[in-house]
Amino acid sequence: MAATDEEWRRRGQILFAQECNFLRPVASFADLPATSLPEIAFAGRSNVGKSSLINALVNRRTARVSNTPGRTQQINLFDLGGRLVIADLPGYGFASAPKAMAADWRRLIRAYLKGRPFLRRVCLLIDARHGAQENDREMMALLDSSAASYLVLLTKVDKLSLGARETAIKDATMLARAHAAAHPDVIATSAKEGDGLFELRAHLAHVARPPEKRYKAATGGKRA
Ligand code: GDP
Repeated sequence: MAATDEEWRRRGQILFAQECNFLRPVASFADLPATSLPEIAFAGRSNVGKSSLINALVNRRTARVSNTPGRTQQINLFDLGGRLVIADLPGYGFASAPKAMAADWRRLIRAYLKGRPFLRRVCLLIDARHGAQENDREMMALLDSSAASYLVLLTKVDKLSLGARETAIKDATMLARAHAAAHPDVIATSAKEGDGLFELRAHLAHVARPPEKRYKAATGGKRA
């Protein structure tokens, strides 16, 4: 029988209570280690609150490796309890970034999205105060064309009034529903106040469940 939402919330809490260890920074696709664990990636504009949200999700101060403009862009990989790989993708949208850097970024992200067989979900973070910007829409197009299943997350919702929050959620939901590879619902989060973290952990525990359980869920446990 399918687990209830409540059960997935419980499983999410257990999964994200596991120890989270920084694996390594990866600057080119060839450096990405082959893994057999389910993988979840986080993407968004620089300063959207990506590091803060990942740290809040795993309930600790993970070693932070910032992507400073002008520096080599890299994917930071984390192992969560030997059960899940978290990939922190380099932020985009540096106003001052040289063109060559944007091209490198695009090449790395394209290769990553096409070349990770265990990638289960990309979390696309959008600042709730600003809504989707031009480069967020470009990222969504890239995710759609890579057939990478993604979930839109609003960040920093603590900065909005309740009314503005509702409007931001409504707008982001409409945008997500207009995109083929996007999950139809969005999650409003705050790394500062904790909003949306239980829901997000439950969602990720569900998409990252082991293959056998996925198989059982799809077939009701009966093998053909
Ligand atoms: P990144 O560049 O996407 O990794 O962004 P950071 O996690 O470094 O956050 C950028 C800035 O936004 C920092 O000053 C954070 O303190 C702030 N920030 C991140 N998340 C939140 C949040 O949920 N609420 C508020 N109020 N500020 C946040």
